[in-house]
Amino acid sequence: MSMPLPGNPPRRKKSKPVRVKHVPVRTCVACREPGAKRGLTRIVRTPEGAVLIDPTGKANGRGAYLCDKPGCWDRAVTTPLLARSLNVDLTQETRDYIKEFAAGHSSPEESHQAGADSKELA
Ligand SMILES: [Zn+2]
Repeated sequence: MSMPLPGNPPRRKKSKPVRVKHVPVRTCVACREPGAKRGLTRIVRTPEGAVLIDPTGKANGRGAYLCDKPGCWDRAVTTPLLARSLNVDLTQETRDYIKEFAAGHSSPEESHQAGADSKELA
């Protein structure tokens, strides 16, 4: 008669809480279609409240994405979708800027931006 020695009790596998990795899904704000990274352009509202197109995706601020369908860019400036998503009012200037960018989207020929000549009207 031999009793099993109380050796190392089998360690119970601790079930770790499954941590869902947050994958940033980029969704076009106009058509709501999730897009591949390269197909979406980031538009950012900077902490200063300016709305900029951010091709690097690294600018600080609240971002929204638009896919490369021209119709979505059109909607971005003709509907409140983008403005709502950025939680900002799009000024006419911003709309023009976005339209301009969309127009030249396929042929990036802009050598340099006209600069920050936006005169802030009080
Ligand atoms: Zn879209």
